[in-house]
Amino acid sequence: MRFELKTTLTFSGDLEEAKSSLKNVIVEANEDILKRGVPHGKEGGAEVVDYDIRGNQLTLHIGSGRYVRAHDALLRVKKRIGEKIGPEFHIGVRKFDIDEYDVSFMLEKTPEDDIDLPYVSSINFKGNVCTFSVKGLTEEQLSKNYVDRIINRIKEKVDAQYYKGKEEMWELVWKSEEKEMIWEEDPTEVMEKKGWILKGPTKGKWFYNPKAASILRTMERIAVEEILKPLDFQEVIESMMVPFDVWMNTGHMEGIPNEAYYVCEPMTRDPEEWEEIVDFIKISKEVPQEMLSEMVTRPKAGLCYAQCPNIYWSLKNQTIADESLPLLLYDRSSPSARYESGGRHGIERVDEFHRIEPVYIGTKEQLISIKEDLIERYTHVFENILELEWRMARVSPFYLQQSGDMEEEVDKELGTIDFEAYLPYRGSREDSEWLEFQNLSIFSKYTETFNIKSRKSKLYSGCSGIGLERWTAAFLAQKGLEPDEWPEGFKRWCGDLPKGINLL
Ligand code: ATP
Ligand code: ZN
Ligand code: MG
Repeated sequence: MRFELKTTLTFSGDLEEAKSSLKNVIVEANEDILKRGVPHGKEGGAEVVDYDIRGNQLTLHIGSGRYVRAHDALLRVKKRIGEKIGPEFHIGVRKFDIDEYDVSFMLEKTPEDDIDLPYVSSINFKGNVCTFSVKGLTEEQLSKNYVDRIINRIKEKVDAQYYKGKEEMWELVWKSEEKEMIWEEDPTEVMEKKGWILKGPTKGKWFYNPKAASILRTMERIAVEEILKPLDFQEVIESMMVPFDVWMNTGHMEGIPNEAYYVCEPMTRDPEEWEEIVDFIKISKEVPQEMLSEMVTRPKAGLCYAQCPNIYWSLKNQTIADESLPLLLYDRSSPSARYESGGRHGIERVDEFHRIEPVYIGTKEQLISIKEDLIERYTHVFENILELEWRMARVSPFYLQQSGDMEEEVDKELGTIDFEAYLPYRGSREDSEWLEFQNLSIFSKYTETFNIKSRKSKLYSGCSGIGLERWTAAFLAQKGLEPDEWPEGFKRWCGDLPKGINLL
């Protein structure tokens, strides 16, 4: 790793008198503060290799290895100049400009395509060596480690070139027996024909008429009564909007910005300010889009994508008492919104769906035991009530498999299990894609990013996304739409379907 930095420091006054003192500071710094932090016997500190003093400006050329990056060296030298020169000569550093900053480092893989990044004027690759130049970073940006983050982002992008298009890891954990399938229709299409559901009112959404609504609500009751209550989960009600700082903490902001729905607020509630827009609406009978966009704020929040982020937020910086551990909560109040675009299909891949999300926080042992309990209750429901053909698989996105340094990868008890159901309308068991109708995860990171602690041990957290549309899609795809043919266990929970609406 090599850093070469050329910078100009502008002082509040002429440097003529301070010249020799400045020179001493630089010589001393080279021996002392610019080597601090380098492990014994190693190279990799920083050095001012060249400097020039002219008028009120000092130019520095700093070279460094990995341990004291040149920009850190600059900040150290600047501080030292302030301490040594300031009091005696009554001049200080007004600002500094980064004239040139070149960084080179080794990559594990040879990149296949060019890479662009903000704050970076050029990136070049020679074999596995990457060299890039940054321009115009401020002191604050340098001290906030922008340069290290640029290095990480380049590594990430090169890795991504390798796993693009590759399948995620999928490892079968368990599968149910084959069950008899009642039919091979797509239940969404048939429900739509029967008027149980209708498309809209905006894309990727459904309106559930009474019969379909009652099936979804039955699924919800089964999940709450047969799974969550027996395991002592407590219900919470959260906001359906998630501010960006919460998504920054969970990683959603960088992970799914292309799938989020964003929320704007009115600039003002003052009716007078809105009068002109109302005039336009009344006269043109249209919404004046451009005017409206000037009357709403830029988004600072998104619609709920998953319910766990706001639950973690509610516990941010808290210490949970031992008697509340493991903490078992669930939310079923907030629908999830995701921009699925071309992937939309039926009721199973939609832009707005209804999930129950249990969230659990506790020691690793506690969470492993919760995971077993949840799997046992889920199995009871899918086997004895819904009588599904389903399976569980351990999954891990490609980038996680590669890193090898995440606890989730090393410890097989952590990570994610997908629950998948066979959909006969998609084809044979062997060749068709099964539907992930829910999942269950344990993580090590969220308790850290939200600083959620206990007195005794490190806490872990996890969640499970019970998708009511997906439970319903899986059930109806296997069991059809004739209530008489449904499994007894489900009939008991469902009762008679409502009479519905007859339209002429
Ligand atoms: P997929 O790979 O199918 O897009 P995902 O990995 O994005 O799923 P998660 O974020 O893990 O899904 O969400 C957990 C659960 O939420 C899923 O198991 C499913 O039940 C439900 N779910 C996710 N996306 C949708 C959707 N677009 N429509 C309906 N349900 C969904
Ligand atoms: Zn979650
Ligand atoms: Mg998805």
